[in-house]
Amino acid sequence: MFFPRVALAGPLDPGPATRHLGNMNELPSRDLSYMGLALAEAKAAARASEVPVGAVIVDPGTGHVLTSAGNRVESWADPTAHAEVLAIRAACSILGTPRLAGYDLYVTLEPCALCAAAISFARLRRVYFGAYDPKGGAVDHGPRWFEQPTCLHKPEVIGGINERACGQELQQFFQKLRL
Ligand SMILES: [Zn+2]
Repeated sequence: MFFPRVALAGPLDPGPATRHLGNMNELPSRDLSYMGLALAEAKAAARASEVPVGAVIVDPGTGHVLTSAGNRVESWADPTAHAEVLAIRAACSILGTPRLAGYDLYVTLEPCALCAAAISFARLRRVYFGAYDPKGGAVDHGPRWFEQPTCLHKPEVIGGINERACGQELQQFFQKLRL
């Protein structure tokens, strides 16, 4: 049984970890296009009856998209098959290293505790996320993973990118489940 986890009203209690982006004009268009790619992965996940979350890993120096992935929890029967984790695994496999220092991650939803930990372990430079997730998020909500003293690598975080489209994708998915 799924429950909607998304609030479209923006951060209820924005944490110091995240710079909230209220104005899309502040962001270069290429960042929006990466989030668009993450959103396409989220839509593909929804078509596979997965919670629609998508993630993309980019080399900000070259603009090269290294990997993209969507949730595969149901289809792989794997509770850890979150979009961010899959994108990180694939990127590390391509590069032959467990660390992605200097790379950026774009994800349609505020990362959960599992993904925040994976992002930290992977040493990602920056995280851009779309919708805030007051129920399951772990960046600005819940454990606020990157703020913990046991978190040894804290990426720069920018939240609220194309928040409405990212959140609507999730809302539509959960609305269909309830029909
Ligand atoms: Zn996650």
